[in-house]
Amino acid sequence: MSENGADNHNHFDIVVIGGGPGGYAAALYGASAGLDVALVEYDKIGGTCLHRGCIPAKELLETAAIVRTVKHAGNFGVVVEAKSVDWAVTLERKQTVVDRLAGGVASLLKNRKVTIFNGFGTLHPGRVVKLKGVDGSEDTITGETVILASGSTPRVIPGFEPDGTTVVTSDEFFHLPQVPANAVVIGGGAIGCEFASTLADLGAKVTILEALPKILPGCDDDVTRVVLQAFKKKGIEVRTGAAVSGHEPRAGGGTLVRVDGDAAPLETDLVVVSVGRSPFTQGVIADGTGVSVSERGHIEVDQLCRTGEPQVWAVGDVINTPQLAHVAYAEAIMAIKDILGEEPPAVDYDRVPWAIYCHPEVAFAGHSEKSAKEAGYDVVVSKHRFAGNSRAQILGETDGLVKVIAEKNPDGRAGRILGVHMVGPWVTEQLSGGYLAVNWEATVDEVAQFIQPHPSLGELFGESVLALTGRSLHG
Ligand code: NAD
Repeated sequence: MSENGADNHNHFDIVVIGGGPGGYAAALYGASAGLDVALVEYDKIGGTCLHRGCIPAKELLETAAIVRTVKHAGNFGVVVEAKSVDWAVTLERKQTVVDRLAGGVASLLKNRKVTIFNGFGTLHPGRVVKLKGVDGSEDTITGETVILASGSTPRVIPGFEPDGTTVVTSDEFFHLPQVPANAVVIGGGAIGCEFASTLADLGAKVTILEALPKILPGCDDDVTRVVLQAFKKKGIEVRTGAAVSGHEPRAGGGTLVRVDGDAAPLETDLVVVSVGRSPFTQGVIADGTGVSVSERGHIEVDQLCRTGEPQVWAVGDVINTPQLAHVAYAEAIMAIKDILGEEPPAVDYDRVPWAIYCHPEVAFAGHSEKSAKEAGYDVVVSKHRFAGNSRAQILGETDGLVKVIAEKNPDGRAGRILGVHMVGPWVTEQLSGGYLAVNWEATVDEVAQFIQPHPSLGELFGESVLALTGRSLHG
């Protein structure tokens, strides 16, 4: 059942259960620190992020971006015509990227001599991990320490169980046989907005049904407004406060979705259910350990990701922290440092970077204007639009803005930067300066000293901060 290890042994410094971003990061980082690591995974190394999440989603969003580029090529004097999207080629390219990255992780693990067990691991008392191999074989290994990183699965609404063709979650979305003519996306969070954006750019008529009063509920209101306007331009219909009660498949394909309060059902070829993800712990923890699981199914941990069982940590989607691959990485590094006795600082979940890759992209770190006020801060806010940015004009991508929220000093001037929120072209690649400012607890005066290249999209962040000093250039 095992591969990679230097020799056959069954006791390790660390046994990691789960080979997604939380688990493989713990294995790679632990092994790079000289620890002898076993990694247990019953499916593919890479987990949700690599096989059913971040990577394939962004790859398909790139196909959507190419379609947009070709559509607008005439504005640049380039005469081409996008006749159609060859979906088979699109899916093949997506798979090639996924497979190449999966191969990269596998060889990193191999080079670091991480022993991989291809089976399902269950934690028993005493840091004993029983394995059930995919080939039916059984084995037992033990660890000085154990890291649980069993991830999450898509949440499903009763009555909307996925069938893989008409009703899908993110597990099935990446294998759709074709782009549907129309689609209903239930849930307007990160996954819903990314899928809606992809489908609309590929030519589908999309309706988002969101139960709450706004889509992207975690985002600053100004940011959500820009996304809403851009979605409208793409023909995406966004309905908030919408609750679904069921659906009836149509003879010949597609289905009729019932929305509470509507006289007639919504006809659609595809329903995408993107209403959150549930932690996965089924079968992972045997009776008798000190690991406890909350009512909502998360493994309970302290601020260093330690569970109730001595020498057992849990990281990633299986604990109640932001379900982001880079947060799982951070937790994995923190757990390994804790194992090594290095007294790491706890991850500051209120200031992690968020990146949503719909078009236009969204990226932020720290307080929104609303949450800063709710937390009792007196704030000063600066907002600048990409419409006035030279690089954005050159790209022809002028929808969007940068918003910086700073604490108001007693003298009325802007002080510490509390939050940076961006929406627009390539903002997921521009957030790092804002993230650093928020997490370094930098002040407006300090950050305003830094020079941004000209012309660049990044100048808009520089201008937004500069304007908070009371003087400005273009802003
Ligand atoms: P989410 O929690 O971000 O959003 C789900 C949305 O569905 C919410 O807005 C919620 O109000 C709505 N909803 C719930 N039940 C509903 C119902 N019955 N009808 C209509 N709307 C309903 O979840 P997600 O978008 O599925 O993503 C899952 C997790 O993965 C999240 O934690 C997300 O942050 C993470 N993720 C992040 C990214 C990214 O940051 N780029 C991308 C994908 C996933």
